[in-house]
Amino acid sequence: MGYGGLTYLYIPMVVINLSKFIEDHGFEAIPYGHQSDWRAIDNEGNIKNKYSRPVSQGKVRPDVMVHLRIAGFLAGLGEIGYSKLLLTPEFGPRQRIGIIITEAELEPDPLMKPGTICDRCMACVRECPGNAISDKETVKVKLAGIEVEWGKLDCKACNIAFKGAKLIKQEEDDGTLPDYMDPLNGYRVKPSSISPFYKKPKNLYNTGQAICGARCMRACMVHLEKKGILKNKFQKPFRTKPLWSVDWSIPDSNH
Ligand code: SF4
Ligand code: SF4
Repeated sequence: MGYGGLTYLYIPMVVINLSKFIEDHGFEAIPYGHQSDWRAIDNEGNIKNKYSRPVSQGKVRPDVMVHLRIAGFLAGLGEIGYSKLLLTPEFGPRQRIGIIITEAELEPDPLMKPGTICDRCMACVRECPGNAISDKETVKVKLAGIEVEWGKLDCKACNIAFKGAKLIKQEEDDGTLPDYMDPLNGYRVKPSSISPFYKKPKNLYNTGQAICGARCMRACMVHLEKKGILKNKFQKPFRTKPLWSVDWSIPDSNH
């Protein structure tokens, strides 16, 4: 529900209905959801080979994807944290973004000054099981004259770790751990300590791979909740127990 449900169900419903509302008032509106599956670039921003072409010279490819978090920042919803997640005063890191492109002229909200929410506590870096967020290297961009910086994300490391997997060199595999996924570029893919599954579960709605459960995001939520700066508050703390992990070196008593 948190991943596929939002991306393929709730975001489209919201942006379509809001677009209809805008069009009922006489302005064109284009609903724009999460387009990762169609975009012309890969996870690292490189143009996908033999995927699409501009309709004529000098034009962009048709599958341009608006950077949703940058759009969220420019719409004045919040700031981009060190984790590269959009953080808002209401929910911290807990939201996904849908966009509507419209010709209606809207009064803009003020942009949020970087550092308003993210205090560089680095909990997101520490709790990532794949060490995918660098604590040293950063990415800097200038948005509407404001310098915005986040930690460099190793998309390949995240792509393995978030599925609950880890790589072992083919020649170092002693067969103790089950094969979690098909081999990848000379590596065996095994379950990591954050997965209780022998095989990666099947995808739902094209997603359902987030065994990691976005530990970066949860670490951020715990931190911001402790600071008491989020407007959306719960009766009980979000985290009440230590993070669990699976020790795959101990035999499973059910087998
Ligand atoms: S989603 Fe998981 S693996 Fe990816 S950066 Fe966040 S904590 Fe790390
Ligand atoms: S966990 Fe800390 S450093 Fe990371 S985005 Fe949240 S507030 Fe910023």
